Amino acid sequence: MNDETRYYWDEDAEEIICPYCGEKYEPSYEDCYIGGEYVDCYSEEEVELTCDRCHKKFKMHGYPAGWRYRTETIDGEATCEEVERLLEGNS
Ligand SMILES: [Zn+2]
Repeated sequence: MNDETRYYWDEDAEEIICPYCGEKYEPSYEDCYIGGEYVDCYSEEEVELTCDRCHKKFKMHGYPAGWRYRTETIDGEATCEEVERLLEGNS
């Protein structure tokens, strides 16, 4: 693993959090849309999503114990520097 090119949102969260810019998405049974696509928030399958805000792709994995979500960048999609820039723009 190369820390220069990967960034993890490594806390399990109750919301789906973009691992690049920190945008939060509320999970919902019926109307959770990310990147214009319906997201099944209550499936244990890993899904690939595109953030509405920064338009980068990330992976989302739901854990059924209380429904928590972990997100992960996709290889090569962002450098640490890019992530820092996005986070600075967020504050
Ligand atoms: Zn984002």
